[in-house]
Amino acid sequence: MGRVGLGASHNVPSPLVGEGQGGGETLASRTVVPPTPNPSPQGGGGPARAHSPGVLTTCPYCGVGCGVLARPDGKGGAAIAGDPEHPANFGRLCSKGSALGETLGLETRLLHPIVDGRRATWGEALDHVAARLAAVRAEHGPEAIAFYLSGQLLTEDYYVANKLAKGFIGTPHVDTNSRLCMASSVAGHRRAFGADVVPQCYEDLELADLVVLAGSNAAWCHPVLYQRIQAARAERGVRVVNIDPRRTATSEGADLQLSIRPGSDGVLWSGLLVALVDRRLIDAKLIAARTEGFDGALDAARSIAPTLAAVTRATGLDIEDVAKFFDWFAATARVVSCYSQGVNQSAQGTDKVNAILNCHLATGRIGKPGSGPLSFTGQPNAMGGREVGGLANMLAAHMGFSEEERDRVRRFWEAPNLVIGPGLKAVDMFDAVADGRIKALWVMGTNPAVSLPRADAVREALARLDLLVVSENVASNDTAGLAHVRLPAAAWGEKDGTVTNSERRVSRQRPFLPLAGEAQPDWWILSQVAQRLGYGDAFAYASPAEVFGEHARLSGFENDGDRAFDISGTAGLSRQAYDALQPFQWPYRHAEQPTARLFADGGFLTPDGKARFVAIVPPRLAAAATGDWPFLLNTGRIRDQWHTMTRTGLSPRLSTHIAEPFVEIHPDDAARLGLEQGALARTDTPHGTATLRVLVNRGQQPGTLFVPIHWSAENSSGARIGALVQPAADPHSGQPEAKATPARVAALPVAQYGFALSRRPLRLPRLVYWAAARAPFGHVLNFAFDGPGAGGWRRWLASALPEGERITFEDAGAGVFRVGVHRAGRIEALLFVGPSPKLPSPEWLKSQFDRAAMTVTDRRALLAGIPFEGAVDEGAIVCVCFQVGAARIAAAAGAGGRSVESIGRQLGAGTNCGSCIPEIRRLIAGVIGGVRPSGSDTVTPTSVCGMVSDLEDLTP
Ligand code: SF4
Repeated sequence: MGRVGLGASHNVPSPLVGEGQGGGETLASRTVVPPTPNPSPQGGGGPARAHSPGVLTTCPYCGVGCGVLARPDGKGGAAIAGDPEHPANFGRLCSKGSALGETLGLETRLLHPIVDGRRATWGEALDHVAARLAAVRAEHGPEAIAFYLSGQLLTEDYYVANKLAKGFIGTPHVDTNSRLCMASSVAGHRRAFGADVVPQCYEDLELADLVVLAGSNAAWCHPVLYQRIQAARAERGVRVVNIDPRRTATSEGADLQLSIRPGSDGVLWSGLLVALVDRRLIDAKLIAARTEGFDGALDAARSIAPTLAAVTRATGLDIEDVAKFFDWFAATARVVSCYSQGVNQSAQGTDKVNAILNCHLATGRIGKPGSGPLSFTGQPNAMGGREVGGLANMLAAHMGFSEEERDRVRRFWEAPNLVIGPGLKAVDMFDAVADGRIKALWVMGTNPAVSLPRADAVREALARLDLLVVSENVASNDTAGLAHVRLPAAAWGEKDGTVTNSERRVSRQRPFLPLAGEAQPDWWILSQVAQRLGYGDAFAYASPAEVFGEHARLSGFENDGDRAFDISGTAGLSRQAYDALQPFQWPYRHAEQPTARLFADGGFLTPDGKARFVAIVPPRLAAAATGDWPFLLNTGRIRDQWHTMTRTGLSPRLSTHIAEPFVEIHPDDAARLGLEQGALARTDTPHGTATLRVLVNRGQQPGTLFVPIHWSAENSSGARIGALVQPAADPHSGQPEAKATPARVAALPVAQYGFALSRRPLRLPRLVYWAAARAPFGHVLNFAFDGPGAGGWRRWLASALPEGERITFEDAGAGVFRVGVHRAGRIEALLFVGPSPKLPSPEWLKSQFDRAAMTVTDRRALLAGIPFEGAVDEGAIVCVCFQVGAARIAAAAGAGGRSVESIGRQLGAGTNCGSCIPEIRRLIAGVIGGVRPSGSDTVTPTSVCGMVSDLEDLTP
């Protein structure tokens, strides 16, 4: 068994502060001067707070794992800024991280336990859960119990859940929503390296001369890393290649866009391997000394991609572009290849990962400064879940199910019921729920009724369980509504523990707010149930520090270097030292420095210490235009929302960028099907249906559709995209194919379109479509309806509006109806209805909610939907930090502001989080090309501007 190679490392500081463990200043309470380059628009970085102490913690969203400085205001809120010293972000936060302070309210929180619909004490709830789990185990056996966890959990929570299930209850069925996110990378790493190890670190993005992004809209999904790449591009001329079927915001910062045919990644990377061999650019010595399986992998690659022409045929790319990519890769020693969900979420995801790794292994481009493969993890603690064994096919601390490993874990845990083998992966787990093999399920911090493939079937299956326990911090979501027991869990700002980001960096997530209501940490809830099941001695944790200490000890237990995951250098920390723990990368053993990179000198984790080339199977290229299902449905994220929006949906600013669910389609397909920009379309797959706004975009390939994953039954009438996704999964990783479900799309005729802006939430009955969002003044409801007929719809709509002085405008012939409701001189609500989606821009109307005393004339004029003289209509909001819209940016560009920097100086746009910079760049290019979006010409309440690569699509 090989010992992990330490690679070319840089000077990595100890994660422990001061002399020994526990000495030194406590980071959590140290005074930090706020970062000036990235101040929070909410005042987090403002001079008034310059000397106030803050709490250093970690962002709860994506796998970049940015450090956050939170300054509580003493009233339940906090000012948020980036931690200037955190190695992931050096003070920068993206739009989502910057808006964290707007998500701390308690209005949607679950504040006390609920059992069978009734409020319960913690004692009653915990007794109930323990008794019901014991009853299910007694009647059906331990394997009738399952746990479905989340990459949002802290490592300590994950550790206790995994230990309870696999060591004490005796069920192997523990899986996590990370299965949907990066399981193919895990499987690819294990096949190639012998363990789930990411060899690189973020610094490599700045040291590389070529960065290849594969299946990654990093500009929106990993924004801070994208900005690090773009900074290197600006400063050093780093080249960027973007491999993605779609043109996205990421494409704006690429030197070469490779819009490959969906599913053809394996062909492209196989072609690259063949080209490298044929040009004699592989490292034959290294291959012979440190690897196995090269000949088989090369034979497979040659059969898949024998020539450049074969690659271009399969991928649909221009031969010049493919040749350029191969030339650049071949000629550049420092290449970092970053891969994310576009690679992972595939029925052949593991092979795609290994096709990438094959190229890096063959050229020795691994584990070196600026050179190697780097998986971008989706969730903040997907990596931590992998570390503890939160995936069904891992036992604990990167150990599997061999007799030796099981014995080691059994002895360490003193576990009475250690499982004998792997459990069911996510899709199979919910199949087992559906067919009754699993009777009791505990869901923690995730929303499978929205996010799993075939989510409608999952929802039905959940309803059949004998026991569904949901640990959540929100009172209501699509899954919690089905639960027998709801347990209030601590939320971000209250949680106390650790997370691990995409570069193996463990960071503290520290609390800076008291626990809300009766909420408790997940590790505590699990430990309490364990004690009631009779396992008190093994779960007598008094703090997360104790859990972390045990986790760290297990990582080093009987580990002589065979397991790369080893953080035993942090075992035995005092509570004070745990609180002060600085971000560090593993492996980190006693008497060694943490390791930034691995495998530069070999030392892979296979039995013989050699890496493995993998002979990938010929990719099954998804066939487009087949029969009833002529499209391929691709799913993904948008810039300013996270998962099912239970947190980001609380931020009024974040909803101003894109307020509605949409289906993105190529103009040729839209024209053929009679789909208008901003109109409604029904999107079907064999598994489910959604009603979505049409977004026509040349960045989308013909024959393909793109839909965002964020909407649920909580905030839309029919946009639970999981319901449309097929359950096909990768045979190695079990990760579902979320990028290519056969689909069809058709216009949805409706009688009227409309939007309502209101200080209070509105619920309009009988709508065929609605989507709700927060706004700075209250709430936005976009909707469409068929109407009850005979003009009765006016009374019907008006009756749903709040009380107040009303002003109504109606053009019955044109089907236009508008109502303003005012109270004490201020707008209470505005309702605009028309026969088409081309309604007036709501952005200027929204700004009028701030006005204190409106004249009658102004109230009437409001209903014209045209800005008062001298007023500015932002148009679709592009920069959410400073609420700058497309129209204002375009006007500034038209007046000579022809650079991002110039726009930033004039308007502030793009100068805080930087997430909107690709869209600003696109708008400037549009203006230079003679296209200018106008606020009042915006065709739909949805802010589609940033999504559209060709601005002509925006103009009516
Ligand atoms: Fe959070 Fe944004 Fe950083 Fe991701 S890039 S961790 S979402 S601030």
